[in-house]
Amino acid sequence: MGAMNSAPSRAERAARARLVASRLTAQGVDGVAVSWVDNSGIGRVKTFPVGQLEHAAEWGVGAAPCFDVFLLDDSVTSSPFTRGPDGDLRLVPDLDRLVPLAAQPGWAWAPADRYAQDGTPHPGCQRRFAARMADAAARRGLTLSTGIEVEWVVTDATGAPATTAPAYGMHRFADFSDYLRDLLRALGEQQLTVLQLHPEYAPGQFEVSVAPDGPLGTADTTVLVRHTIRAVSVRHGLRAGFAPALTPEGVGNGGHLHLSLWRDGRNLGTGGPGPYGLHPAAEHFLAGVLDHLPALLALGAPSAASYLRLRPSRWSGPYRCWGLENREAALRLITGSTAGQANAEVKCFDATANPYLLVGGVIAAGLDGLDAGKPLPGEVSGDPAELGTVERLPADLGETADAFEASVVLREALGAQLHAAVLAVRQAEAELFADRAPEEVIAATVGRY
Ligand code: GLU
Ligand code: MG
Repeated sequence: MGAMNSAPSRAERAARARLVASRLTAQGVDGVAVSWVDNSGIGRVKTFPVGQLEHAAEWGVGAAPCFDVFLLDDSVTSSPFTRGPDGDLRLVPDLDRLVPLAAQPGWAWAPADRYAQDGTPHPGCQRRFAARMADAAARRGLTLSTGIEVEWVVTDATGAPATTAPAYGMHRFADFSDYLRDLLRALGEQQLTVLQLHPEYAPGQFEVSVAPDGPLGTADTTVLVRHTIRAVSVRHGLRAGFAPALTPEGVGNGGHLHLSLWRDGRNLGTGGPGPYGLHPAAEHFLAGVLDHLPALLALGAPSAASYLRLRPSRWSGPYRCWGLENREAALRLITGSTAGQANAEVKCFDATANPYLLVGGVIAAGLDGLDAGKPLPGEVSGDPAELGTVERLPADLGETADAFEASVVLREALGAQLHAAVLAVRQAEAELFADRAPEEVIAATVGRY
């Protein structure tokens, strides 16, 4: 049974914060940033001096409930549960994830859980949702090992890609030698284990992957990795962008989710009787993910620009199918070189996803497949575009929002309030960008993520 993600009490948090604050002061930290990711996938932050950490851990830092219905352009919509300017929530830093920021000397960062003023968890808290879903898997004796690949584009002061040197090229590596070294150092100093760092396909694009972790840890880590990339870029006079599409026709930034399912220390993705050694639980889980994918895109490909990326021949996985090492399939099965490495990669997701909603939603979909004993459909090998028979994933945000609205499984998992807030944001952004040219959608998205 995996450890339950229970939240510590107010008194425990305060006692802990006293110790953490004196350690931080000794380390030369002046301020603490507490962040959360909104339903549009944008990281939002409050900061305070280290001396306030104990108070912040005990009582939280104020933040308005209307952030639940913020759009990517900072305009505000409403949902049946969230409307208007009144009310208050408390951002409570998770001290277990608090870390000094290597690329922002003098600052530490922690992710926040959001509580109501009376100390009860806020039903719209995306981070608690991820923790609840990991617990739901643990109650079935399952743990998940997950990782989110981080792709980004580096631009210069003019907004142009900072390099047009070849994809995956040695030139790009040499041109960005100090930048990449500083990034490796900063990530390492923040206790993150980097697995790989390389120039990617699009102009100015790079990718980093870090060691797998549980779903909540992966979501926190993704926030920290992206923020570190941002901060290192700023120190080099550059900007990092995570938008799904950079040009209407080009390759975009993905945010692929890798996952494997484990029971009693055994990877259920290998050595079993199913396709490529899947154990029944892993097959059913992946079948559930595939089944719910159109609705899940509201959590994993949540912006209008996501659908400019989610097109054939970009390795973005725009087809609703699975295949061994198939980079055009939404679900790419990877057998790996050792039993521990077998995993599945959900390729259709991008970096505008709130990583907490993403991991939580995928677990909810997978557990539904598991509980129902769903089988995987037949494998697709080769380019689905050439077969002509494979279903495409939703073509725009409106279609995705409709699938999400109709999803009983995601509504029940998220709870009525969080489901309604996400739906309101998706519908409002779909409307905001209806009839807008791809160039305008991209211009409104680049620079926001
Ligand atoms: N950049 C591609 C995407 O948008 C992915 C390339 C790769 O397979 O790493 O998903
Ligand atoms: Mg990549």
